[in-house]
Amino acid sequence: MQDFINVILPIPIEKLFTYKVTEEEAKLLKPGMRVAVPFGKSKIYTALVFEIHNTPPTVYEAKQIDQILEDHPVVTQVQLKFWHWLAQYYMCSLGEVFRAAVPSALLLESETLILRNDRADLEENDLLDDEFMVFEALQHQSILRVQEISDILDKKNIIPVLNRLLKKNIIFLKEEMYEQYKPKLVRYVQLGKSHRSEENLEALLNGMTRAPKQSQVVLTLFQLQAVTKKPVKVSDLENASNSSSAIIKTLIDKGILEEQFVQTDRVVYEGGDETETLKSLNDFQKEALKDIKGSFKDNKVVLLHGVTSSGKTEVYVKLIEEYVNQGKQALYLLPEIALTTQLISRLQAYFGEKVAVYHSKYNVQERVEVWNNVLENKPVAQIVIGARSALFLPFNDLGLVIVDEEHESSFKQYDPAPRYHARDAAIVLGNLHGSDILLGSATPSVESFYNVKVGKYGYAHIERRYGNVLMPDMELVDIKEQSRKKRMKGHFSERLLEEITETLDNGEQVILFQNRRGYAPIMECTTCGHAPQCPNCDVSLTYHQHRKQLRCHYCSYHIALQETCQACGNATLDTKGFGTEQVEQELNTLFPKANVGRMDLDTTRGKHGYEKIITSFEQQEIDILVGTQMLTKGLDFRNVNLVGIMNADSLLNFPDFRAHERSFQLLTQVAGRAGRTKKRGKVIIQSYNPNHRILQQVTTNDYLEMFQEQIYERQQYKYPPINRIIKITFKHKDYNKLNEAAEWFAKSLRNSFGGNVLGPEYPPVARIRNQYIKNVIVKIGENYSLVKTKNSIKRIEKSFNAISYYRGVRVIYNVDHI
Ligand code: ADP
Ligand code: ZN
Repeated sequence: MQDFINVILPIPIEKLFTYKVTEEEAKLLKPGMRVAVPFGKSKIYTALVFEIHNTPPTVYEAKQIDQILEDHPVVTQVQLKFWHWLAQYYMCSLGEVFRAAVPSALLLESETLILRNDRADLEENDLLDDEFMVFEALQHQSILRVQEISDILDKKNIIPVLNRLLKKNIIFLKEEMYEQYKPKLVRYVQLGKSHRSEENLEALLNGMTRAPKQSQVVLTLFQLQAVTKKPVKVSDLENASNSSSAIIKTLIDKGILEEQFVQTDRVVYEGGDETETLKSLNDFQKEALKDIKGSFKDNKVVLLHGVTSSGKTEVYVKLIEEYVNQGKQALYLLPEIALTTQLISRLQAYFGEKVAVYHSKYNVQERVEVWNNVLENKPVAQIVIGARSALFLPFNDLGLVIVDEEHESSFKQYDPAPRYHARDAAIVLGNLHGSDILLGSATPSVESFYNVKVGKYGYAHIERRYGNVLMPDMELVDIKEQSRKKRMKGHFSERLLEEITETLDNGEQVILFQNRRGYAPIMECTTCGHAPQCPNCDVSLTYHQHRKQLRCHYCSYHIALQETCQACGNATLDTKGFGTEQVEQELNTLFPKANVGRMDLDTTRGKHGYEKIITSFEQQEIDILVGTQMLTKGLDFRNVNLVGIMNADSLLNFPDFRAHERSFQLLTQVAGRAGRTKKRGKVIIQSYNPNHRILQQVTTNDYLEMFQEQIYERQQYKYPPINRIIKITFKHKDYNKLNEAAEWFAKSLRNSFGGNVLGPEYPPVARIRNQYIKNVIVKIGENYSLVKTKNSIKRIEKSFNAISYYRGVRVIYNVDHI
């Protein structure tokens, strides 16, 4: 009997592929192990074994696999089930999930580009012959294709060699380019080996009587090391012994001290063996914890609804402790942007090295390390804190899943597939593991709160800020009125200016929020009305003053700022609207003595850009911080007493059925940064339309009213959570073809779903990177089956794909979150 395996290939094809294996291989193989397989004419992929069987494929002749890549599964059975659910629910292929789920180092394939690692340490690595040949080739040529390496080694399957080189840190993969930053090295010292015992130390000190400064250093170091026996940071030693780096250098040269460099920019735990004890919860927190546990007993997902600064994090920590004490794993999921060192340090202070961090800014080695630690259920990764990709780790005893800031829209992955929502997927993952699941937010999503209302979720509530700090005092300022009376200075109302002045006078800090980066979103000629557009996208170019450029925020297009209008030639260009850069500039004029900082995509590029700004704001080197929505996410600053919203209207007018909900959340979250310690904070919201329901609800902190009005609207217009929704996006560079294709698809959908199909319609930006875009929306009523609907849509797509004229038109599905 012949043996076969079905594998998942990391490419967007619907079906699993079948390969032949020998009898011995079949005995070794288990689902979840990786194999290298040939595909197409000359490609080699890393594939994942899905099942082992004896049925040959009917349509094609199965090829033999090239090689088995390991002796144990790297992907668990539960993960495979989870992937299967993701592919079904979010309408993509298992291969696309595979590609997104595992670190790229586990996914080598023939098209991967290989680069040399200039920091490779050869001395530490003995290279085998084939490894050395690759290493040498990379000295002459910094980038090689897998095919080229294959030629050099005269071997078909070189994936095992590359795997070994990756492990030894000799090479990088192309995707990892951006991580070739120079790590910051910190110098540590310890007593030289021969001086460590007490007698030897005494002899040493006796011989140093004529160098009192040096012996002072040695004595201090001995003291510092007495407890930990670990090397000491040179800067700490300098401070403690009151000496200079020159003296320490002399001691190192003499061999009395040994130096050692430690790389610090991985978020590794740096503390000693000691951890802080957990804070004891106040009565509100205790009550919430009790409610949470009560609902866990009923096997319900629980929503923790606690106002900003109510101490939700401390409640999570208490829970995590209980699961960890039982030896279980805990996953703490956050939106990428809220994953700050602030929070990581807080968790590490409690749980020490049990905390592992996992997100996309980590390099491939670090990610593989965490992956393996989780797979083996090691104590060093018992608590994983991560962004949405942490869902894909190979947990095997997951006891608790926490999704913090569960309302955050950035939990949704838009590109590439799988286009999943991490909160919703986390609930499925938790259920597969039988874990307890907690969602937390100060401003819950309408979906989650609805699930509480209908009894599906449990609920816990904290209405007070920790330490009885008052919720900030909110004030709406009508800038229409102010502009009419010519009372605005730039984009600042008198009220906002007064409050900023007072706050700065008190030595406190200010946060200003404007949800647009750059100087101005539009540059327009006041004579002819012409506004420079992006040639690739249907948008105006944004003016960036600092770089004197006009930039497209959808593609990378940019041009130098023009002095005169390109249409009429007049030097009458003016800006319309405003972004963070303009606010910053106005502040520099209005408050010349204040230090103004800016936090947006432009100032936080690079691995640590974001951290740097947060740290200098924390250390009060910045008095006023201007920023986009990056400011909203779970940051805990002690000295901020004023938050100003420059213009609330642009948020409210966004064309999306969730725009009002989002505005409420965003504004409440930003406001929540004010007055987190004793003194009551102040929030000023500037708007042209201060009577807007949402603004009223934000200022009175009336979540319930917001929820009821939003639910009513969603019911009226058939949107989630009461109805389901699928958005189908069509993209093509040919305008006519796109229109016809979208029309054909929509018509077919109407045959099945009638009036529940909307569109095709252009989105607000109808062309991006030269691709025209049209959307069709399918609404699925309460009593219809989501699965059946998706199957019908997939069937229509099959017929669609069979029409050769439409070939090349991309069809993209987004489910629930569009
Ligand atoms: P949230 O996550 O709800 O915004 P945090 O957990 O950040 O709130 O708590 C706000 C502040 O109050 C933090 O500085 C935190 O250390 C402090 N805090 C919360 N609970 C306690 C407690 N039980 N004992 C002492 N301090 C607490
Ligand atoms: Zn563009």
